[in-house]
Amino acid sequence: MGNGKKQIAILGSTGSIGTQALQVIEEHPEAYEACVLTAGNRADLLAEQARRFLPGSVVIANEDKYEYLRDALSDLPVKVYAGADALCQVVQEEGIDMVLTAMVGFAGLAPTVSAIRAGKAIALANKETLVVAGELINRLAAEHKVPVLPVDSEHSAIFQCIVGEPSPIEEIILTASGGPFRTCSREQLAAATKEQALKHPNWSMGAKITIDSASMMNKGFEVIEAKWLFGVSPEQIRVVVHPQSVVHSAVQFADGAVKAQLGVPDMRVPIQYAFSYPYRLESGFDRLDLTRLGTLTFEEPDTDRFRNLALAYEALRRGGNMPCVLNAANEVVNRAFLEDRIGFLRMSDVIEQTMDRIPFLAVPTLDDYFRIDAEARRMAAELL
Ligand code: NAD
Ligand code: MG
Repeated sequence: MGNGKKQIAILGSTGSIGTQALQVIEEHPEAYEACVLTAGNRADLLAEQARRFLPGSVVIANEDKYEYLRDALSDLPVKVYAGADALCQVVQEEGIDMVLTAMVGFAGLAPTVSAIRAGKAIALANKETLVVAGELINRLAAEHKVPVLPVDSEHSAIFQCIVGEPSPIEEIILTASGGPFRTCSREQLAAATKEQALKHPNWSMGAKITIDSASMMNKGFEVIEAKWLFGVSPEQIRVVVHPQSVVHSAVQFADGAVKAQLGVPDMRVPIQYAFSYPYRLESGFDRLDLTRLGTLTFEEPDTDRFRNLALAYEALRRGGNMPCVLNAANEVVNRAFLEDRIGFLRMSDVIEQTMDRIPFLAVPTLDDYFRIDAEARRMAAELL
């Protein structure tokens, strides 16, 4: 540490985003060092990563895996911790320049808040944190003068479109692949299986976000994420289905000009940009060949078949604790779908009913969010 390289802590280093972030770091040893690595359960992969990247600290959230991890790393100068609280502590370590939040779900909220309070720049992949508590995160980030840089490909695209633009955004054009069920009828959706849902046409991602993509909740979350990252109103965010996932998103300005960011679908590009902003570093990633693609297509999303998108807009319009309820209920049904305990279309029913039943709260505190998340999970589980 203190060697001029950007010191990066990765929350969720064993996941899809985490492992790709480590590839970026490995490609640029002159610029980056992984100083903290953390995982939920996969102690074996975390140990392997620690051996390779020699971070100062590692955390395994599942405390049952602590001894295994400690023993696996006993010959290395790596501090080993376990538990959810340790995640919140480790992100505050001196020497960390940036925290990549690549863990999944509501569990990312507490460590993200902790990192912001310690003044660490945030590379944000964990969109659920902004969905649940965007207003609070923005307030804290402003208070602690901490930048929140988007990693989500659409938001990185939007960010790249507005870099250097002093004028406000007129409209965001948020592209969506439409997922594996884009052309399915309601009858087909009713019978959709998790195996079908887990086959995303363009992106290889963790299981939770892959299901969210199939149900379009992921796009709903990204609308909310865009609101908080870019300070626009829900009416200024237009979702457009673009099955090729080449236009990663676009921004329209007051004069009608539209800027888009394009590229082959590869999450290492937005991860690297969040690390290197405002600069760009070289990469050997695949280049876009427009003539080989030939055609790019765009269509309206269908919120009758994909009700989650409408539910997310509604949660955003109602504000307060509603996006938190939306997220909690979605985590419950997403898990249930992966365990074959609920049908594909029923997921939206349970989310909607949970949103109807949890009392509205206009300005939740951080403690409120933990309580509301637990309450909404209980309610959604009962409704299952
Ligand atoms: P993943 O399931 O592949 O990986 C999640 C990581 O978080 C793993 O390292 C896991 O061990 C860790 N983790 C999970 N639950 C945890 C807990 N309770 N406590 C501590 N650690 C925990 O997920 P992913 O696809 O890499 O997605 C990570 C985040 O990035 C999500 O919020 C997702 O929405 C977002 N995102 C992912 C992609 C993508 O391409 N995968 C794209 C955009 C945004
Ligand atoms: Mg995305």
